[in-house]
Amino acid sequence: MQYISTRGQAPALNFDEVLLSGLARDGGLYVPETWPQFTADDIREMRGLPYDELATKIMYPFVEGSIPKDDFANLVAEAYAGFEHDAVLPMKQLDSNSWMMELFHGPTLAFKDVALQLLGRLFDYVLKKRNERVLIVGATSGDTGSAAIEACRDRDCIDIFILHPHERTSDVQRRQMTTVLSSNVSNIALRGSFDDCQDIVKALFNDMNFRDQYNLSAVNSINWARIMAQIVYYFYAGILVGAPDRAITFSVPTGNFGNIFAAYAAHKMGLPVDQLIVGSNSNDILTRFLQDNDMSMLEVEPSLSPSMDIQVSSNFERLLFDLLDRDGEKVEEVMNTFRSTGKMPLDTSKWELATRLFTGHRLSDEETLGAIGAIHQSTGELVDPHTAVGIIAGWTQRLEPASPLVCMATAHPAKFPDAVEQATNIRPPLPSRLADLFEREEKYIVLDNTVSAIQAEIKKHNRAGTQN
Ligand SMILES: *Cc1c(COP(=O)(O)O)cnc(C)c1O
Repeated sequence: MQYISTRGQAPALNFDEVLLSGLARDGGLYVPETWPQFTADDIREMRGLPYDELATKIMYPFVEGSIPKDDFANLVAEAYAGFEHDAVLPMKQLDSNSWMMELFHGPTLAFKDVALQLLGRLFDYVLKKRNERVLIVGATSGDTGSAAIEACRDRDCIDIFILHPHERTSDVQRRQMTTVLSSNVSNIALRGSFDDCQDIVKALFNDMNFRDQYNLSAVNSINWARIMAQIVYYFYAGILVGAPDRAITFSVPTGNFGNIFAAYAAHKMGLPVDQLIVGSNSNDILTRFLQDNDMSMLEVEPSLSPSMDIQVSSNFERLLFDLLDRDGEKVEEVMNTFRSTGKMPLDTSKWELATRLFTGHRLSDEETLGAIGAIHQSTGELVDPHTAVGIIAGWTQRLEPASPLVCMATAHPAKFPDAVEQATNIRPPLPSRLADLFEREEKYIVLDNTVSAIQAEIKKHNRAGTQN
């Protein structure tokens, strides 16, 4: 498979190169040149496959030419062997025609594990083959750092440094990162804010000497391989509730538009879909777009569903590319206007095209708490604030009641115990494998908010650096 950039200027790349490079050189995102196709009969034959076998089947066309099939099947099997449930991603029924698929049984209890557990192994495999190493650096407000750390721990060709704001994450969030004692993992608690952490990471990437010397890389949400890994569970869920003989409605709590874009990709590959519902919190740029063609940036407001506290949904550019008939120049023009004016100009005809498949729905924090309580009352399930937004969006916006609705449950309720307790008076306990989190040894270093302090720390520990 070859990949092309949404801005049309960067060279087409194969899977290896797209995996390692992330963003395209023209500022665009990579997408597959064509969508692999599965017919209704192909999909029928997938019924009953275990998750890893289905995953290998769905994803193999994307990596073909870069990774031999047996090797790929092994990487996939290993990635999902660490999930706590035999189904990997179990499905629970909510009412007579709606379900939730629990994407949070990986090591950090959030759906990012589904993609990142595979991504870390793919990186390592490809790097070994090329005899290269990378240094991953990232900043986290506490929420997503642990998924990156769990993805990279103990990988031979990867070192990872994650910066978090000192004393500004929750204890659970910090401990999920700092109790990973692997020698290739470094946690830095920065004396500063999350924005300071992000600024330092940007400065490291902008220091070209440093960047080249240490072969800096990132595992951010625009990496194509993350989308690829997420496509699988739309097929998995769809098949469980009747695809290809019934068309499915999916509802997804959305931030960067990565997860819901994977649903769109599954549809492009042959999965029958009636409707894709985007759940937003008060940071509702996508819902405003889908309701009124108003894609305009506002200030980010903190909410009860912090992983969706995003104003610019970077993966939206991949949908935009298709809406604009895969014309890279037009995408570039629209994105430049969006950056400079804060508002995306999109013709009504293109917006209507998007709304044929996509619908948006917004919940305030108060409505989110009400939703957690109502879902608990009617189903007995405790759900986290992100999942609650998705379920209510699905229940409210499904147009065709006969269409099976699958809501994506993106975090374990114990990751957001305060909100769940406030809504239900029940404090969800951590699952047993994390029950001793507070007794585990921690390893991290507290550093001043300067680029030189961070660079010195990286120099001290990094294996790529000492070899150069
Ligand atoms: C990252 C995240 C989301 C948003 O996913 P996108 O792919 O950015 O749309 C939703 N819920 C949880 C719990 C997350 O961690």
